[in-house]
Amino acid sequence: MRTYRIAAVPGDGIGQETVPAAVRVLDALAGLHGFRLEWTMHPWGCAYLARTGTMMPADGLESLAGADAILLGAVGAPGVPDHESLWGLLIPIRRHFDQFVSLRPVRSLAGVEGPLRDGRPFDLVVVRENTEGEYSEIGGRLYRGRPQEMAVQEAVFTRLGVERVARYAFELAAKRSGRVASATKSNGIVHTMPFWDEILSEVAADYPDVELTPYHVDALAAHLVLDPARFDVIVASNLFGDILSDLTAALAGSIGIAPCGNIDPSRQHPSMFEPIHGSAPDIAGTGTANPIGQIWSSSLMLDHLGEREAAARLTAAIGEVVRSGSLTPDLGGSLSTAQVCDALISAL
Ligand code: ATP
Ligand code: MG
Repeated sequence: MRTYRIAAVPGDGIGQETVPAAVRVLDALAGLHGFRLEWTMHPWGCAYLARTGTMMPADGLESLAGADAILLGAVGAPGVPDHESLWGLLIPIRRHFDQFVSLRPVRSLAGVEGPLRDGRPFDLVVVRENTEGEYSEIGGRLYRGRPQEMAVQEAVFTRLGVERVARYAFELAAKRSGRVASATKSNGIVHTMPFWDEILSEVAADYPDVELTPYHVDALAAHLVLDPARFDVIVASNLFGDILSDLTAALAGSIGIAPCGNIDPSRQHPSMFEPIHGSAPDIAGTGTANPIGQIWSSSLMLDHLGEREAAARLTAAIGEVVRSGSLTPDLGGSLSTAQVCDALISAL
């Protein structure tokens, strides 16, 4: 039987509830599609930090390396600064395994009220560069406390870095509706963004069936709010992609449903799948967390592992359960995490 080794890291807060929920639904799905998931649970995170002084053991990355994929819940707890929690677990995994694509599909779901008045259905994917760009550590502060005090922050775009994320976006668009929108700002950012545009055009030449449209990121944000249905694949740098993917997740109606994949398309390393929401300490332990963001992320994971039919069946079941009104409180319903899982398993 096809077996996939999945390293699960529930992490903190509602991750402790959403990851076990996803395991239950995925095991049911695997049974229907003739494959098996071999889970290894890693009890890492802020509770582990409190006990041991680190978010994960020294050989943590090594022990993940043998997995086919990583399923992460959430990282972070009140009182633990991000530089300890995120930088002690999430960021090292992303970097060590060169997960250079952050994949964020967003789709309107019937049954979920979004903020858009005219609810034309939309289905798009933000492909965010995940390793370089504006989030570099190069720069510093000068003349502290003096009138001429300044801060300088360098953005780093490499040919390799831009080209590989562009190629991923075009490959994806070729399998979808054949359109790539590129987020640029070459009218204001005069070195890195023209370089980005140039490489995007070069890659586009290899995909004659995919149409490339560059948008200045400010205009792109406005178009997304007014008419998200015009977009299919959006490719963006680290900072622009970060902002656009939060915007598009909000368009879909709840932070509790949006999925994310941190992907190494070369498949030399395991990719990591996580909901975009955080640890939600305000509702942790109440059994009311929406498990859909985690489960939709698991569907991306199955797709990445090559179980396309099972992945599609899972997203279809999510759509059906939401449409039928089986919802947690964040979406206006009154079901528990476990009850939504039950509904999903019956829908499967
Ligand atoms: P982080 O710093 O970890 O991103 P955050 O406070 O920015 O944390 P979240 O933890 O995602 O963001 O929480 C934001 C709000 O959304 C909270 O009120 C939380 O309860 C709610 N929320 C987040 N995820 C879910 C979910 N899966 N189900 C229900 N509500 C959720
Ligand atoms: Mg947050």
